Amino acid sequence: MPSTTQENVHFMKREEVEHRAREVLRSHGLETIPIDPVALANREGIKVNNAKFSDDNLVGMIVKRGDDVTMLVNHRDRPYRKRFTIAHELGHHFLHLLGDGEYMDGEANLFRTHPTDQEEITPEKRREIQANIFAAALLMPEDHVRRLWKELGSVEEMARLFNVSVAAMGIRIGQLGLA
Ligand SMILES: [Zn+2]
Repeated sequence: MPSTTQENVHFMKREEVEHRAREVLRSHGLETIPIDPVALANREGIKVNNAKFSDDNLVGMIVKRGDDVTMLVNHRDRPYRKRFTIAHELGHHFLHLLGDGEYMDGEANLFRTHPTDQEEITPEKRREIQANIFAAALLMPEDHVRRLWKELGSVEEMARLFNVSVAAMGIRIGQLGLA
C-alpha cells in the first residue's frame, strides 16, 4: 500500500472524488458518452490486458512501477463489468497510486459505494469506495446523467447510451438524488 497517500485519502470526500473525475474527463477532452475507459488508460500510458487469474475471485488489478503502469482485467468478465473494473482501477491510478504500488481487486471491492453501519472503515475500504465513486463518475458523468434523465427518464435506455449495466445506472441515478 502506498503509505504516502494515506492521509489525503482519509479526508477525500465524495464531492472531491466526483470533482477529480470531472477534471480527468475535461483534461482529456472526453465530452461525449459512452466514455471509453481503455482509451483513457492508454492515453495515460497504461497498458490494459485481459488476464486469466489464478484466484477466481479477482476481477482486476493495477500495478505501478515507476513509469510502467499495467492493468489486468479478468478475461471471463462481460464487457460492462470490464469497463467498470477498468474505470475502478483508473480511480486507484488517479487518486491513490502516486508512488509505486498495486491494487488487487476482488469482486467485493467493486460493490462498495458506501460503508454499512456495522462496518469499520479501514483506509483500505475507504480507498475502494473512492475508486467506485470515481468509476461511476467517470462512466456516468453527472451533467450527462442529469440532462438525459430529464429527457428520457428511463434507466434502461440510459444504461444503453452510457454503455453500463442497468444496475450501475440505477445506483448512479439514486446517488445523484434523481430518483
Ligand atoms: Zn480497488
